[in-house]
Amino acid sequence: GVNRSTVMKAYQELKADGLIVSHVGQGTVVVPQVFKPSMPRERQVRELPWYQFFNENITTNSEHLISDIMSLTNCDKVISFAGGFPDPTLFPMEQLEALQGELFKTAQCMLYSHSPVEGNPALRESICQLLARRQMTVPSREIGILSGSQQGLDFVARIFINPGDTVVVEEPSFFGAIQIFRSAGARVIGVPIDKEGIRTDMLEALLIRHKPKFIYTLPTFQNPSGVTMTMARRSQVLTLAYQYQVPVVEDDPYGELPFEGVSLPPLKALDRHGYVIYLSTFSKVLFLGLRVGWVVAAPAIISKFAHLKQLTDLHVNTPSQLLLDQYIRSGLYEKHLLLLRQEYAAKRDCMLAALEKYRVPGVSWEKPAGGYYIWCRLPKQISRHKLVANAARRGVIFLPGEVCYPDGTQGESFARLNYTFAQPEEIQKGINQLMQAVQESMQL
Ligand code: PMP
Repeated sequence: GVNRSTVMKAYQELKADGLIVSHVGQGTVVVPQVFKPSMPRERQVRELPWYQFFNENITTNSEHLISDIMSLTNCDKVISFAGGFPDPTLFPMEQLEALQGELFKTAQCMLYSHSPVEGNPALRESICQLLARRQMTVPSREIGILSGSQQGLDFVARIFINPGDTVVVEEPSFFGAIQIFRSAGARVIGVPIDKEGIRTDMLEALLIRHKPKFIYTLPTFQNPSGVTMTMARRSQVLTLAYQYQVPVVEDDPYGELPFEGVSLPPLKALDRHGYVIYLSTFSKVLFLGLRVGWVVAAPAIISKFAHLKQLTDLHVNTPSQLLLDQYIRSGLYEKHLLLLRQEYAAKRDCMLAALEKYRVPGVSWEKPAGGYYIWCRLPKQISRHKLVANAARRGVIFLPGEVCYPDGTQGESFARLNYTFAQPEEIQKGINQLMQAVQESMQL
């Protein structure tokens, strides 16, 4: 027989050499041998084949569009119509700096502490006041604060989508949302839009056939098309949602930026039965780096959001929430919105005038009534790939329209042109260069 201490000693030597590992309760296993004992281990370490470890959900490498746009836009020489960024010259820096100084002087411990998972109560109350102006009367318990509306879209996907489920989006739609829904395993089906918004005549058949988990819509100053859904279509969408019992996810980052008059009421303001989950954000009206957005929904949905918020990152950082609350309460936020409407309307007009001036046959567009984008139809004979390359060579970037379609563009090409970020002289120069690139990119 072999005595116990001899066995233990042998085990310990094997373990010291990395030949076996043992875990309490799981026994001992032999480690597959990768290293040759004769060579120093450090020299034998090879690159880890990460892809063997990824789970099945993680999206593959083609999905870097948003981060690519973010980094290209930071490059000085490029004129960017590609992103959806506010004008950096309009950031209310001095006001925010003053408020922040005051906040850090007076808020003491609270500023440095945790906030509730659903968000700071004062900020939720301030957001209630903002929403009331847009005909949305909701109690603050139906509001949850998020790290941008991007997080809201992610939570929507995590709450509703099982792999293989169907969701309905407008065609075109916000490409970031399409990416998120896809990466959760959804089949994303598009319903075309026209000048009045989503084609409700086509929506009904899809609701019957596919029983989607939700309809994702951007009714006001849509990204990317700039289209605003008419009142008639808004009520048709709600009627269909009630009739076929489908939740509606309303994404509204641009609703506070009407250039003439006031925006139409959001679907959420018209919804009498709690079917609408409303998302919005301060990103497009203050600054993107803030990462504060919010959800408005029935209490049962807010509690699901709160649960995911707790799992993900507990809550939005406290200083940003307190700063925003002060900014809204001071009345400065409202004043800032007035300024943005004026300035962005002027920039929209500047881009429209440049498109007219450097007009190329086959290029057409509609005038958006607010928001961030002009959706430009390109000539039929254009080569999309050549256009992206030719425009970039001329120092201009834009968003190629096909990424905004869940299943290709049925042969048509579009360019989404953002007019809020670039300065007027860049808009002039950039449109001139882009239209020349269009001419260079025709296929004969
Ligand atoms: N939804 C839409 C329609 C957007 O355009 C954007 C920003 N590009 C977002 C959501 C995400 O915004 P946030 O910065 O609030 O995450």
